[in-house]
Amino acid sequence: MKTFVRCGQLFTGREDEAGAREILIFDERGMLDYVGPETGSPRRARSDRVLDYSRYFVMPGLIDVHTHLAYGNAKSEEDIDLYSPLEFRSLRGMFFAQKVAAAGFTAICSPGDAGQISLSIRNAIRAGLFDGPRVMAAGRYVTTHQGLTDWYPSWIGAPETSIGKLVTNIAEAIEEIRRQVKDGVDCVKIALDGIQRRDNGELVAAFTQDETDGMVREIHRLGKKAVAHARGREATLYAARAGVDLIFHANHLDDECIAAMLETGSTISPTLTHPRNTIDFTQPHEPAYLKGRPGHAQREYEIGCANWKKARTAGVPILTGTDTGFAVTPYGEWNARELELFVEDLGFTPAAALRAATEVNSGFMTEGDHIGALEPGRDADFIVLDASPLADIRVLQDKSRLHAVYIAGKEIRIPDRPYDPRQVTDFALSNWTDLYTQARVAELRQQRPTLVAAE
Ligand SMILES: [Zn+2]
Repeated sequence: MKTFVRCGQLFTGREDEAGAREILIFDERGMLDYVGPETGSPRRARSDRVLDYSRYFVMPGLIDVHTHLAYGNAKSEEDIDLYSPLEFRSLRGMFFAQKVAAAGFTAICSPGDAGQISLSIRNAIRAGLFDGPRVMAAGRYVTTHQGLTDWYPSWIGAPETSIGKLVTNIAEAIEEIRRQVKDGVDCVKIALDGIQRRDNGELVAAFTQDETDGMVREIHRLGKKAVAHARGREATLYAARAGVDLIFHANHLDDECIAAMLETGSTISPTLTHPRNTIDFTQPHEPAYLKGRPGHAQREYEIGCANWKKARTAGVPILTGTDTGFAVTPYGEWNARELELFVEDLGFTPAAALRAATEVNSGFMTEGDHIGALEPGRDADFIVLDASPLADIRVLQDKSRLHAVYIAGKEIRIPDRPYDPRQVTDFALSNWTDLYTQARVAELRQQRPTLVAAE
C-alpha cells in the first residue's frame, strides 16, 4: 500500500518557491518515492490511500538543533542540575519532546544533558514506545572551571546530577568522550567558554587550542559530531580551527573565525530566541531583570546580529535553534519564533528561513540525509498548514493553523494536555526575591497601602 498526499502548495525544501497541485507518494515504511506534479505522477492502485491536503500548505517537518530535553522549563541553573531525580527528568523530557513535535518540529538535537536522558528518550521513541520527534542526543557538557555549567562554588563542584562534567586535563576529557560514546550519544558537547572574562572584558576560553583539537579529533575518530557552546571570540576561534561541527552562539566571531569556519566546515546556530525572549518577556519583578539580564542580552544580541550576518554572507551555514527548555523558552511554544527572528533580525527571506530550519539543519543531524527535504529516498516527515509561511513566517507559531504532523509517514496526534508547571520546574528553595528591611516595608506601605496595611 502506498499513500498519496495531495498538496495545495508543496514546499520541498529544495527550492525557494512552493509548487501548486503537487503530490507526495510514500511507501509502507514511510519513505518517499515520488514528489512532483500530480499530472504525470504514478497511477494509484485500488488499495492505495489518499490524504487530501489540496487546500493546505505542505512542507518538511521543522528541525530545532538546540532544544534541551533535560531542562524542564527551568527557572534557574539549580532547577536544571539539582532538584529532581534523573528518572523524573526523563519522563518529563518525553512529555516535553512530544510538545515540540506537536508544534511541527519532527526532529531536534538536545545538545547537553544530565545522565542519559536525551538518549533514553531517543531510544524509547525509536523503539515505538512513544510517539515523538527524532532526537539527536548528547550527554553532559565537557567543561572546566572556566566553562559553562561549572556554576557552583569550587568546594561544591559539578554534582553528578548536573549537566556539566568537570575535567582537569585532556586525558579526563578523552575518557569522558569515550564513555559517552559507549553509552550511545550522537554528539558530544564541549563548554568552550562560560562567564569568566579577562580584565579587558574578553570571555576566556575554557580549554586551550591543543585541548580543543584533541577532544574534537577523538569525537570525530569515534564517528560522532562535536558541538560547542562558545560566545566569545577566543572560544569561537578555537572551535572553528578544531572543526567543531556546530558552534552555538558565536556572538563575537571575527574575520579570523570566519576564515577558520570556512576551512574546517564549522557551522553556527546563533540561537536568537532565548536572548530575544529574555529581552522581550522578562518582567520587572524577575531576578533576571534585577540582575540586568535583558539589557545585557540586548547588547550581546546586537553585536551578534552584525557578526552572524557577516558569517552568512561569507558562506558559513547558519542553523536554527532556540535553547528551548528554560522558563523563558518553554517547549513547543517558541521553537518557530527562531524563523521569524531569522527574517526580522538576520535578513533572511521567509524561504531561506524555512530552508535553514529544514534542509540546512538536516545537514548536521544524525541520519540527516533521511530528513529535511521532501524528495524520493527521504522519509515522509512533513507538516500541513492552512496558511503559507512564505507569505507570513509567523503562522508557524500559530498552533491553530498547524493541521497535521507526520513522521516517517505516520501522523502524530498529541493531545494538548495541560500540566502544573510548579510541579515540574519550581524546585528552587528560594522563597523571597526582596529584602524586607524596615525601610523597604515603609516604602511598600507608601506604594501599596491596601496591600501592606499599617498595624
Ligand atoms: Zn543551550
